Amino acid sequence: MKNIPRIFIGDNVQSGMIIPLSRETAHYLTHVMRRRDAIVFGGGNEFCAAVDDAGKNIIVGENTGRADPSGDVTLYFAPIKRTDDLINMATQLGVKKLVPVITEHTNAPHINWERMRKIAIEAAEQSNRNSVPEITSPIKFADVDLSHIAFADERAAYGNVRAKTTKINSIMVGPEGGFSTAEFAAFDSAGATPVSLGATILRAELAAAIAITRVQK
Ligand code: SAM
Repeated sequence: MKNIPRIFIGDNVQSGMIIPLSRETAHYLTHVMRRRDAIVFGGGNEFCAAVDDAGKNIIVGENTGRADPSGDVTLYFAPIKRTDDLINMATQLGVKKLVPVITEHTNAPHINWERMRKIAIEAAEQSNRNSVPEITSPIKFADVDLSHIAFADERAAYGNVRAKTTKINSIMVGPEGGFSTAEFAAFDSAGATPVSLGATILRAELAAAIAITRVQK
């Protein structure tokens, strides 16, 4: 349904629920958009909804039956300065799960993950998804099972690796400083699938967006 405001109200949303609106969302619906109707979504489902007479609650109506266009890709990514852009683009591209990975060259110490979650919610609302990707707590590179993932391998841009195409739906992208020698060795010895993103070196956030499209079905 075009042009109706879309609001994420939680993964467990169901028909018949009456959910209090935050002051911000109530203002957005009734004063900015000047509407009483909305689409609400979460957990892969989408519902018609209406703001109550007091303008304080949203009443969840019927399930629209529209299938969630979200995909099944898990993106492992090293936090970067532009993590907000990375999360915004990855969400628009339908990523299911985002896993921050602290690599040797990761240099982004002060990321506000609550803000990142808000960015994912806004991007999901705008991109017609019925779900918001999960953003996990950051994990260490050493704790990732490398045998079941692909990785965006910048060595492809130097012509000294033959990167494969893959049917795997999990991919890792490195930070601004790239993967370290030890990390490349770990990928190679675990049998992780190297993926080329072309002959040029891409910034990490663009690399992440393109990497997602390389493993999407
Ligand atoms: N500092 C590194 C260098 O000069 O070789 C480049 C790192 S790049 C900015 C950040 C990440 O994006 C890389 O670790 C890799 O995962 C991905 N990436 C960038 N360009 C790529 C390419 N052409 N092929 C595969 N992955 C690429």
